[in-house]
Amino acid sequence: MSKDKKFDPQNLYEKLMKSTNAAELPHFQRGPSEEIKVDITPDKSVAPAMFIPDPLRPGCYKAHPTTIAAMRKDIFVGGAEMFEDLEVLYTCEGCGEVLDLQFWSFCPYCEAKPRYK
Ligand SMILES: [Zn+2]
Repeated sequence: MSKDKKFDPQNLYEKLMKSTNAAELPHFQRGPSEEIKVDITPDKSVAPAMFIPDPLRPGCYKAHPTTIAAMRKDIFVGGAEMFEDLEVLYTCEGCGEVLDLQFWSFCPYCEAKPRYK
């Protein structure tokens, strides 16, 4: 019976995680109780700070690469209902646009970093 290969669930799990993460950009972390995946395709024709539905892929969105880079990667953790309570409005010193800092790690319009007071 020494020919039997040992079944290794940990190894299988790691392989699965690698294969599912590879194709997604960006990949959002999930909260402990729910899984929220947002699939956003970089598209330079989309205006800054905008997310538009991708006509070719239902349920997916397109956004400017800078917008994707400026998004905070942790915004979907914990579910959507948390957003209203945590609104942090900030007027960008670079371009004057009003940003909600719970969504952006830097300005999606001019790429200036917000200065926290
Ligand atoms: Zn700005």
